[in-house]
Amino acid sequence: MREPARISICTDCLMLLANGEVFDSEGNDISDAHAMEIQREWPNTEITLGRLREDDETEEEYEESQEAENEGWFSWSPCEGCGSHLGGTRYYATAWIGE
Ligand SMILES: [Zn+2]
Repeated sequence: MREPARISICTDCLMLLANGEVFDSEGNDISDAHAMEIQREWPNTEITLGRLREDDETEEEYEESQEAENEGWFSWSPCEGCGSHLGGTRYYATAWIGE
């Protein structure tokens, strides 16, 4: 049984999860290194983009919130995907813990 956990992730994590690759500001391919960072934070865990609907949220409310959430929001909190302490834009993701 896999348990979903709601997390917020940085742009690098988003790129890697969405496109399978991510580049640093100088254009270097950091996909493998970044995948390892996530792997270290979340062993045996699949991370998917977006969040699940809350129990107390209607389908309509959920749909509406998605548009704003897809834009991301700024936070100084560490990225919960790779553990980066850089402030930046954060996005919702879901970590599926367990086998
Ligand atoms: Zn990250």
